[in-house]
Amino acid sequence: MLIGIPRETRPGETRVAATPETVKKIAASGKHEVVVEAGAGSASSIPDADYRAAGARIGTARDALGADLVLKVRAPIGDELAAVKRGAAVIGLLDPYDAAGIEALARAGLSGFALERLPRITRAQSMDVLSSQANIAGYKAVILAANEYGRFMPMLMTAAGTVKAARVLVMGVGVAGLQAIATAKRLGAVIEASDVRPSVKDQVESLGGKWVDVPYESDEERQIAEGVGGYARPMPPAWMQRQASIIAERCRQMDIVITTALIPGRPAPKLIKADTVAAMKPGAVVVDLAVEQGGNVEGSEAGRIVVRNGVKIVGLTNLPALVATDASALYARNVLNFLALSLNLKTGDYAIARDDEIVQATLVCENGQAVAQK
Ligand code: NAD
Repeated sequence: MLIGIPRETRPGETRVAATPETVKKIAASGKHEVVVEAGAGSASSIPDADYRAAGARIGTARDALGADLVLKVRAPIGDELAAVKRGAAVIGLLDPYDAAGIEALARAGLSGFALERLPRITRAQSMDVLSSQANIAGYKAVILAANEYGRFMPMLMTAAGTVKAARVLVMGVGVAGLQAIATAKRLGAVIEASDVRPSVKDQVESLGGKWVDVPYESDEERQIAEGVGGYARPMPPAWMQRQASIIAERCRQMDIVITTALIPGRPAPKLIKADTVAAMKPGAVVVDLAVEQGGNVEGSEAGRIVVRNGVKIVGLTNLPALVATDASALYARNVLNFLALSLNLKTGDYAIARDDEIVQATLVCENGQAVAQK
């Protein structure tokens, strides 16, 4: 079998779906040929020669996209999609909630495995691309905020006087939010954090953050807040309003706000209203990590840093791609672990593990048809 690693073509996409480390393991049995498109790793600082040394052949885009199994970061589109062979399998972040995109993959006749759909079970943790990339996004969000902020993060006592520590609020304490708290803490900031799921309060406190409580006023609210399968659900409007007024009050005190709240398959919840931003201190920085899903912050713009009433709102997208080398290294290991469900790395035996619940959950199209999520 031919396994292809194309160069990603979307603007700003610096990651690559395999590294020399994973190529070596995929090629180890000697049964399969791995072809890497020339320059596929260059934006992640991986030279072609390293792939070659790991056992790959360096080829063209057509070679890599025309393989039997294609490992991608983002879903193939346009010319990329036209170059994928009918019947080939494609593994990547295929954007399963984009029905038109999945329909296009189905029409191209490929079997698509969308890693966003991995179930949140222990066995799938080593494959969990959303976690590995969200962790990086949470880290980079704080670094970007620190860069845009015109003051220090830590408290400093100098001969010229004392500098106060920055106050940081993190909204949404999943994987990205926890890493944002940990990173801001390492930089010396004072942290507050909030989430709809009450179970994360202990995690916030164990990282040295203060929990901002939004009380529940009914059993229904409490039950919805528990989420499902590790993910949040949309909260009732009454709770959202209570949250908005508590957060508006906290935001007035904050120097930096980082929002990471997502609900799978739906627009991101709006957590910070325009009048809340308007009432923040001049020089404050808001980073909206949910901007590509519609944004948690009113007024944030995808791909831009905008200034509203002296407050900077950072809406830069695809933050993992700004930490390309590590993002690729972790992503590629996730892909390898997923692939290992179907490919025996020692013997080279390959058969798509259709009975495995992990593989089943990720299948988004096959035989020309989109596969509905179970
Ligand atoms: P996510 O990216 O879907 O959402 C980010 C956070 O936003 C979540 O904590 C969510 O509760 C929060 N949120 C949603 N709506 C909100 C609102 N209105 N107000 C405030 N916050 C809101 O979530 P995630 O980071 O992918 O992870 C969610 C959980 O799943 C985490 O606790 C994580 O540890 C867990 N997880 C488990 C596994 C596993 O068991 N295999 C794997 C990965 C993650």
